[in-house]
Amino acid sequence: MTKDDRETLRQLEREATYGPWKVYEVPNPYRMKDGTEGVLIERNIGTEWHHPQLDGPAPVVVMSTTVGERTHQVSIDANNAALIVALRTHATDLLDAHERLEQVRELQEDMETAQARSHQDCLDWEFSKPTCTQRCRTITAVLAILKGEERG
Ligand SMILES: [Zn+2]
Repeated sequence: MTKDDRETLRQLEREATYGPWKVYEVPNPYRMKDGTEGVLIERNIGTEWHHPQLDGPAPVVVMSTTVGERTHQVSIDANNAALIVALRTHATDLLDAHERLEQVRELQEDMETAQARSHQDCLDWEFSKPTCTQRCRTITAVLAILKGEERG
C-alpha cells in the first residue's frame, strides 16, 4: 500500500457518510404454493447514528424505487461506494500494518526502559552527547508516536 493509496483512502473517508455504519436486517417470511416456508433476510447498511430529519439511520446501501423499466435498484452514494471498494482492496495491507504495529507496541516497555538507561549515559558522559542528539531524539520520537497511537 503506497503513500498515495493512503492519501486517497483518507480523502475517501472524509467524503463518505460519517460512521459508524451498521447492517440492518429485515426478515421477510415467505410461504410457497407447495407449503415450503422460510425467511429471506433483507440487509441494508445505514448509519448507527440517527439522522435528525429522517428520525432514523441515514441510508448507506439500501433498496430504492426508480422510474422506468427497472422499478427497484440498490442505491448507494458514489462516495460511500468508493470507500467500500478502497477499504476492501486495501483491507489485507491495513490489517498487516496494524499487526506489525502491535508487535512493535509489545516491545514498547522494553524500549522505554532501554532508552531511559541509555540516555542516562548521555547525561553522565560528555562524549555521548553527539550520539544522544541523533539516537535519543529518534527513539523518543518513535516512543511518542506509539503513545499517541495508544490514545487514539
Ligand atoms: Zn540521550
